[in-house]
Amino acid sequence: MRLKQWGMVAVIGVLAILLGWSTQAQVVKRSQGGLDDLTMASGRVRVPQMVVPAEQVRLEESPMAAPGERMVFEEWDRFLTENGTAWSLMMDRRTGYPALAEGAGVPWVPGRGNGLQLRDLRESLGANGTVTRATLVKLAKGFIRQYPELFGVDPQDLRVNPVSTGEYGGYLWFVQLDRTYHGIPVERSYVVFRVNNGNLVQFGGEYLGPIDLDPLPSIDAETAQQVLAAYVGGLEATDEWVNTGSLSILPLAPGGDDGVYKGQTGQGVEYHLVYTLAFRRAGVMGTWTAKVDAHTGEVLQFVDANVYGSVTGGIYQNSNADPEVVRPLGFVNVSNGTTKVADAGGNYTFSTGTATAALTGKYVKVTDSCGTSSLSTSTAPGDLAFGTSSGTDCTTPGLGGAGNTHAARTTYYHLTDWKEKALGWLPSNTWLQGQLTDKVNLNQTCNAYWDGSAVNFFKSGGGCSNTGELPTVFLHEVGHGLDSNDGSGSSTVGSSESYADINALLTTHQSCIGVNFIPGQQCSGYGNACTNCTGIRDADYTKHTYSTSPATPAQLANTSGFHCSKDSSYPGPCGYEGHCESYIMSEVGWDLAARDLPAAGIDANTSWFIVDRLFYLSRATSTDAYSCPSITTTNGCGTGNWFSTFRVVDDDDGNLSNGTPHAAAIYAAFNRHGIACSTAVNTNSTTCPSIGQPVLTATAGSGQVALSWTAATNASKYLVLRNEFSPSSGMVIVATVTGTSYTDTAVAPNITYYYSVQAVGASNSCAGALAAVKSATPTGGTPPATYSISGTVTSGGTGLSGVTVAAGGASATTSSTGGYTISGLANGTYTVTP
Ligand SMILES: [Zn+2]
Repeated sequence: MRLKQWGMVAVIGVLAILLGWSTQAQVVKRSQGGLDDLTMASGRVRVPQMVVPAEQVRLEESPMAAPGERMVFEEWDRFLTENGTAWSLMMDRRTGYPALAEGAGVPWVPGRGNGLQLRDLRESLGANGTVTRATLVKLAKGFIRQYPELFGVDPQDLRVNPVSTGEYGGYLWFVQLDRTYHGIPVERSYVVFRVNNGNLVQFGGEYLGPIDLDPLPSIDAETAQQVLAAYVGGLEATDEWVNTGSLSILPLAPGGDDGVYKGQTGQGVEYHLVYTLAFRRAGVMGTWTAKVDAHTGEVLQFVDANVYGSVTGGIYQNSNADPEVVRPLGFVNVSNGTTKVADAGGNYTFSTGTATAALTGKYVKVTDSCGTSSLSTSTAPGDLAFGTSSGTDCTTPGLGGAGNTHAARTTYYHLTDWKEKALGWLPSNTWLQGQLTDKVNLNQTCNAYWDGSAVNFFKSGGGCSNTGELPTVFLHEVGHGLDSNDGSGSSTVGSSESYADINALLTTHQSCIGVNFIPGQQCSGYGNACTNCTGIRDADYTKHTYSTSPATPAQLANTSGFHCSKDSSYPGPCGYEGHCESYIMSEVGWDLAARDLPAAGIDANTSWFIVDRLFYLSRATSTDAYSCPSITTTNGCGTGNWFSTFRVVDDDDGNLSNGTPHAAAIYAAFNRHGIACSTAVNTNSTTCPSIGQPVLTATAGSGQVALSWTAATNASKYLVLRNEFSPSSGMVIVATVTGTSYTDTAVAPNITYYYSVQAVGASNSCAGALAAVKSATPTGGTPPATYSISGTVTSGGTGLSGVTVAAGGASATTSSTGGYTISGLANGTYTVTP
């Protein structure tokens, strides 16, 4: 049977690549039988980097060593001769090529790590004589041509990864070049360069070295579809193709080696040409995705690729165990003559007529299975209050439509707030800038998931809460969303689970993920039961029965205490069930912020803010949280391992061979969980001038909060931070200013806001301690004043009627004498068109 006739077209194929390749639900999905029971992955699909110090490989090098291996060492020696010896090299034993080099820094662009001037790199500069992304790409490709044997990849086969290439945080440049072979993408293979304060401090790549493979498939996509159809016992009339067959090259382990490669250096990867195909089945949760060998027709993998896990309204702040509180619904779209977008405080400029809003805005669009939402007013000042109610699921306050549910309001509010937070660190990420689809009150229970383009939440039932009413559940799911859109996907879904849990706890500063998921029931902790969490997982190891037992890879195969089961269809880096294995990295995230940075004498809020920076700025080129050929050989030395990428973000002088400002705390947190890299330089070192801590004053007014602070030593500018939760919750960057005051008008009346300020030095990598948090509760509620523009449109001295005139998004039509008035404008400068 052919599926094609019901199929969607292949244009959608791109989607499947973004999906990663496994369901990422909040918890392990309950098997639905049928397709779920068919999920599998060939043992050869797990092909982790075997990261070892290059000197160890060199010592073992036999006279029989492949010529390629010797050439890598000769090239590395030449690199050291030309750039100094304060560099270390980790190699991937599978490929025989570098995994990650790091060291004292090679000057690339002007920065505080070097004495370069712009004129030194004139031929690489952009049109305005500035350093641009193209400059860095040019330098990176030139570097590959200068040291070709360190990469074993032709620069012509490398494509710039647009999301993972650019400037981050104002002091880092990353260049990630994704590999192709005869124009076909090679999965998980890339070259990466990381520049801190102007200096190249890390470079490397995954799955480097020559590929020997016939790039022409032996079977066509239609045959691959038939192979998949046969595998699932036939397709059904309602099945819809999401991907009808896209070609890629997949690295596989030769003969299946269970992660630990024992063969000759450089012989540990086989490249196979594969079709990726995906379909959805009506009534069955999942995006069923297969990889079929395009030469042999073998089904290598079959998995579910979903990722699970003033306008005001009542929302649950922490979980639905507490009553709702009223909060502004920021960035809501309001139809009022024209379409207006509310500010972060839910404020918009009301003009006469009717104003209508749904729970849809610039960043989030809610789709509610209970119905649609819509709320209108024609009374000045145009307040739209979606209200509060008790109950759950489809219960509403009795206004705003059948879709004005707890879940709709609560997800809208928190997802919008989270996007503001993430955009503070990653302002050019187009996925964050766009509108996220948020589906709530779906007619299933006990789960939530990311499906590659939307977040999805279920109704209450089966002993579980409505997952759209649990903020830490959606902060988790949207973490999967960012992971899929940050430029570098994790190669194991277990790393994505840690990504999602850390994303949630950085906002709430609570270690319990999914609070009140199963009311009254502590989470299992996978053999190490939670003692204070009715959610899914608790990232604080002390809040478990074995309270002195941090999760480590070495425990995975235990039979008591924390342990996991092997799972090839939803694996973590060690090949154990991904949600379970994710405990290891998630506990590192918690420890670093709540334990190790405070132990170094840093106050709590500053510690959390440092981890915000390390996490968000490192996302673009982070892959797996750690390398795990086996549970006894785990480390954090791999190319995209989070230990390595956190350190490059932490560094402040373009030199990793002297440590980083918080290297000791980072090492302590990762090493406690067995996933650090001990060969790195793990001592604290900073060359930043001492940056002072401002003293903040916050004064509430009508519709505003006036902030002012004392000037801090060595400050060049200040980040203004705010949240609407508590003095100790995660902060959103709302402004960057050079002076010592700021007036926040994006506030709603009668709501308490919590503010801080951080001084930043001449380099963005140099920052001081956060000012002590001050709260303020603005009064008022008077709408902002509005202005109008009037004029006449004439031709040869005669007024023209019926002409549409627009300014600032508002418009008017000229009268019989050519006159017009555009009203409802905020104070500002406008251009009237035509
Ligand atoms: Zn998840």
